[in-house]
Amino acid sequence: MVKKVAIVGAGPSGVLLAHYLLHRQEQYQIDIFDFRSDPRTVAFSKSRTFSIVLSQRGINALQQIEGLEEAVKAISLETNGAVLHQKNGKTRVFSRSYSQLSLDRTSLVIQLLEQLAIKGSNQVNLHFNHECTQVDFAAKQVKFKQLDTDAEITVNYDLLIGADGARSVVREGFLQTDNFQCEQNYVVNDYKSLFLPPLDPKLNLNWQQNKVNSWRLDNSINILLVYQMDSSWSGVILFPHKDKTIPELTTKQEVLNYFRQNFPEIAQVLPASEAEDFANRPVSRVLTVRCNRYHHGDSVLLIGDAAHGVSPSLGQGCNAALEDVNIFNQILDECADNLAVAVEKFSLQRQADGIALVELSDYAFPTSKKLFVELLLRNRLSKYFFPIFPKFFLPSLFELVAEGKLSYSEIFNLYQDWIAKVKKSNQQILAKM
Ligand SMILES: Cc1cc2nc3c(=O)[nH]c(=O)nc-3n(C[C@H](O)[C@H](O)[C@H](O)COP(=O)(O)OP(=O)(O)OC[C@H]3O[C@@H](n4cnc5c(N)ncnc54)[C@H](O)[C@@H]3O)c2cc1C
Repeated sequence: MVKKVAIVGAGPSGVLLAHYLLHRQEQYQIDIFDFRSDPRTVAFSKSRTFSIVLSQRGINALQQIEGLEEAVKAISLETNGAVLHQKNGKTRVFSRSYSQLSLDRTSLVIQLLEQLAIKGSNQVNLHFNHECTQVDFAAKQVKFKQLDTDAEITVNYDLLIGADGARSVVREGFLQTDNFQCEQNYVVNDYKSLFLPPLDPKLNLNWQQNKVNSWRLDNSINILLVYQMDSSWSGVILFPHKDKTIPELTTKQEVLNYFRQNFPEIAQVLPASEAEDFANRPVSRVLTVRCNRYHHGDSVLLIGDAAHGVSPSLGQGCNAALEDVNIFNQILDECADNLAVAVEKFSLQRQADGIALVELSDYAFPTSKKLFVELLLRNRLSKYFFPIFPKFFLPSLFELVAEGKLSYSEIFNLYQDWIAKVKKSNQQILAKM
């Protein structure tokens, strides 16, 4: 019998799941709903998208579906580490032994949707401008408001997937069920997107196209920029929520003055038009999510940010969201598509990883300058000595997270002393702010 799957959220995890289910011998009729417009036809707002880096963990999940890795690579650039630009004009380079893919989050979604359309299957229906408003787990029904017409529709399902991001409405439905615990916290850093034009060669700037370029002030304000396919640069400025300096830059001139004083290298590239847009762009806040289970009953599952929203600091949210889909697919194989068994098994297998990833992402990077230097030193020691003395040195935390051979909980267990140390220090600093 064909099973009806309602996926709420056409983000990376929701659309990738549709690809995977399509490969499961026509057992599924899939409907994907998203409250946004179709990004393939409606130009997306710059303030709503950002560059992401996909590491091997996320790429592994794409590789399982024929043609997806190649299609995503075609719209990505390769990066292989990071470069820290210091005040004295010098740089510190952190190279990785393997490449990652850098691309825009919405472009990734568009590519996944286009690849789905190429398959031309009548098993998948896309419903944009449909906002999920209510779930009724007992009746196995989910309600949507059609944003074009204000009409309400009710959809029956055999499997409901909450792939609707960190502010998930499907997850809200779990709050009405027994023994569900969920902790939501805002990440200490807020962010604003930043978009810069191609560099003028006359400026002779040492920005590296195959690395994430970063600039960090002593007050923890941090800029990350990534080279784009059209030769421009895009990224974010991250700043502690309590520090109102960036939100209070409300005019073009204030923005230009701020960059000249604090990020003079970037100020040379910042056009007045972007300074104006930057002043008007909203500040974004990121929510972290820790849940004690990801399934309800025999027919509801949370994946991606809906299950484990994380701070972007380690660049793993999307990787983990794509990995969720791969893991759920493996579980469907193991239990011959018995959905009741599969959703529960996913929770049991993945929940510890979700919590570990939230902790790793919150506390891998210290706020304290002293601990930051220690982090750099540890990373360097890992790189050189782990291959020679694996009994005495740990592999680099960042490489472990990116390559995806170990689960997030295994990595957390290896690095729990460091995470505990950073957590204590970061919390002390935050309390004094
Ligand atoms: C600044 C920044 C940088 C990042 N960098 C990286 C990185 O380098 N690497 C990385 O791996 N991750 C990164 N991330 C995290 C990554 O973007 C997310 O983890 C990833 O997008 C999660 O995918 P998802 O499919 O679970 O959810 P989302 O991408 O959040 O998609 C959820 C979808 O659900 C829809 N939706 C929400 N509510 C409803 C509703 N009620 N009804 C209908 N539809 C709904 C939304 O419109 C959206 O399309 C970054 C995040 C930020 C903010």
